[in-house]
Amino acid sequence: MGLLTGKKALIFGVANDHSIAWGIAQAMAREGATLGFSYAGEKLERRVRPLAESLGSTFIEPCDVTKDEDILAVMDRAKSAFGNIDILVHSVAFAGRDDLTGDYHTVSRDGFKLAMDISVYSFTALAHAALPIMNPDGSMLTMTYLGSQRAINHYNVMGVAKAALEASVRYLAADFGKTEKHIRVNSISAGPIRTLAVAGIAGSRTLISEFAKTSMLRRNINIDDVGNAAVYLCSHLAAGVTGEIHYVDAGFSHAGMASNEEGGAGG
Ligand code: NAD
Repeated sequence: MGLLTGKKALIFGVANDHSIAWGIAQAMAREGATLGFSYAGEKLERRVRPLAESLGSTFIEPCDVTKDEDILAVMDRAKSAFGNIDILVHSVAFAGRDDLTGDYHTVSRDGFKLAMDISVYSFTALAHAALPIMNPDGSMLTMTYLGSQRAINHYNVMGVAKAALEASVRYLAADFGKTEKHIRVNSISAGPIRTLAVAGIAGSRTLISEFAKTSMLRRNINIDDVGNAAVYLCSHLAAGVTGEIHYVDAGFSHAGMASNEEGGAGG
């Protein structure tokens, strides 16, 4: 029996087999969950559909999270297909390429709004829309990054968005924890992983290679690491955990000083 046997999960944010949401989907399927997928637009359908079908999923629905009508429609279809769900996974973010290079202060009003809409508000909107179909003791999860807490080169407006997303996690956890359903809301702060979203950030190659040299575990994070942590957070094992920012980053964020020296103690 898997950790998620009998659970139904709705997953937003698979773009391809490098996506963090795909790592989460695979881990949840391995632990017995029934999965439903949503993708961002027609162009992505041909990538997402075969992936979803490979895990036995027949629920594969479009949803542009900037559109309220799409969000309502996907929740309606989920209700018809599943009745209720136990898990909502939000692994969605976007900022314009121009806003992920150079200095933060050059961000335009429109660029700022777009990043906040897709990367922050969408989690609150999906959580709100999903609440009526969530089973008691259900769990919601979103994805964040250390750029919310520290100024990381070129992460810029996305760091501001992630700070707001992490605040949203706490407010949603407070809102939903006190309902009769006692829904938990958490986030995973993952170390850098080469995905489509990360390819848009200037200098991401260097960021990822330096991370492997300096993280406590001296390695990069992969989508399986994140998927396994997601299973824990959405399972009964984490029944007492909510409002949490859970770091899956090989200890990077806890190191006192980034260090890439080789070998034993220095003299
Ligand atoms: P990804 O490109 O595979 O996933 C991003 C997803 O957002 C895509 O599926 C894309 O279709 C979706 N999306 C964008 N705009 C959308 C819209 N309007 N409507 C619906 N969906 C939309 O990249 P990823 O790295 O797997 O990103 C997933 C999440 O993980 C993001 O929140 C990202 O910020 C976060 N994250 C990534 C890393 C990393 O290093 N890759 C680290 C920490 C956190």
